[in-house]
Amino acid sequence: MPGTPRAGIVPVTPFQQNCTLIWSDETKVGAVVDPGGDLERIEAAIAGQGITIEKILLTHGHIDHAGGAAELRDRLGVPIEGPHEADRYLLDSLPETGANYGLDGARAVTPDRWLADGDVVEVGGLAFDILHAPGHSPGSVVFMSRDARFALVGDVVFKGSVGRTDLPGGSHEQLIRAIKDRVLPLGDDVAFIPGHGPTSTLGEERLTNPFLQD
Ligand SMILES: [Zn+2]
Ligand SMILES: [Zn+2]
Repeated sequence: MPGTPRAGIVPVTPFQQNCTLIWSDETKVGAVVDPGGDLERIEAAIAGQGITIEKILLTHGHIDHAGGAAELRDRLGVPIEGPHEADRYLLDSLPETGANYGLDGARAVTPDRWLADGDVVEVGGLAFDILHAPGHSPGSVVFMSRDARFALVGDVVFKGSVGRTDLPGGSHEQLIRAIKDRVLPLGDDVAFIPGHGPTSTLGEERLTNPFLQD
């Protein structure tokens, strides 16, 4: 048995991005999701949980999520999976974006595996289905554990809000369609960790999120 997923949140960067460790309680093997920066804190959290990291996952290409990915890949010697290739241009331009935001050390990164809708990612023996959910960025993906009823949604949807769409490549209509047609149907009981702020469930957002009420 692969066990059940455990998760721990490490807020990183001035954007307070929810870098997330996920691992199997059975195998104690896991992944780092969205290492935007502050790698020392991420490494301390990994050591504190006593887990082995086998891969890095990226929900999308924005700097607060991906700015530390190349450096962490070098330090841990593990591959990077995700996001969808439509975010390649964001990952290519991370050094320039970092300079614009005054963030040091962001490196361009090319994942070892691009993800597409319907793909499956394995973490410590746990399976996560991939949903392509563009709109916040063209290549945003959602990682969904159907067994555990748990999802990592990046900046697609938040507790009480949705991802901003004013950045290059964003589309509010596309984002709302992706949430309503693709993410919410995963089920009201699905708990999720967003890229920023508190956790929620898809049911709570379907019923109360002001951006999803018509
Ligand atoms: Zn973002
Ligand atoms: Zn973000």
